Amino acid sequence: MKTWWKLLVTSSLIIVSQCVLAWGAKGHHIIAELASERLLPATQSTVSILLGGESLTAAATWADEMRSSTDNPLFWAEHAAQWHFVNLAPGLDYANSPKHPRGDAIVALETFTAILLDQPLPSGPVTAALLDYFAGADLHSADAKRFALKFALHILGDLQQPLHAGYADDRGGNAVSVVWRGEATNLHTLWDSKLLDYSSLDEATHVRRLRSRIERTPTSDISVMQRSDPAAWLDESAEMLERIHSHDNEAGNLGDAYAAQFVPTVESQLVKGALRTAWFLNNLFGGWPVATAPAADGQIRQTLGDQPAAKAD
Ligand SMILES: [Zn+2]
Repeated sequence: MKTWWKLLVTSSLIIVSQCVLAWGAKGHHIIAELASERLLPATQSTVSILLGGESLTAAATWADEMRSSTDNPLFWAEHAAQWHFVNLAPGLDYANSPKHPRGDAIVALETFTAILLDQPLPSGPVTAALLDYFAGADLHSADAKRFALKFALHILGDLQQPLHAGYADDRGGNAVSVVWRGEATNLHTLWDSKLLDYSSLDEATHVRRLRSRIERTPTSDISVMQRSDPAAWLDESAEMLERIHSHDNEAGNLGDAYAAQFVPTVESQLVKGALRTAWFLNNLFGGWPVATAPAADGQIRQTLGDQPAAKAD
């Protein structure tokens, strides 16, 4: 996993500030449901043990549900609330961008990864907040790992919502007022859920449509889409932001034409979210990347370096 984070640190992306949820429950459920179908047996069994039998789909929205928890509200409202997004600043890469003092989605994902892999925790605001939350207990305990898995799962979905790598000055579109099909809302909410609801399809139908889309996608394209480092995902978001914000001056008039342009983007991001979530979990728990074909001797080629080769059974 070291390569993964090295790529992150050296990549040129732009981070600034914003806030709030990301996909609504529907988006998170679709991503997790499709991801769960791509888990390797070893991954499936570890995930099932850690989640105590709860499904990946149900667990995917836990981090949002806890935002209004009355159990340690200071932790959930002030610390963990920062871990759903990153802040992009034009012209600066992640390493050079100002960081939120309480951490962000990238720092949190790195910390949760270390918890799940039994590695030493990085020093910083996320680890400090978690030590406080768990009252100094072992952060590699089963409880802490369950927490880390659920939150990491959620972040992997959130990071595919382009406005979760949005601009600081408009809080990731939360401060951009728009009128969507006659209803006053804001740009962030439009992207969280309203574009996904445009088709009026229910969750199960979305899952079916996107599953069939994944099945029709060539393996080589899937490999590209599940690109392994979050820095690359955020670079994609930064590119999408320009297109998204180019419509800001039409704020009174967003409707069918906007949907025609951006609903396909939302669907692509959900597909990427599913592929990337599965890839991430398979590398954590399954021992090999999901897109890697088994070799003739039944062993799977190992590409991440730090994990043992696993049997394909
Ligand atoms: Zn969220």
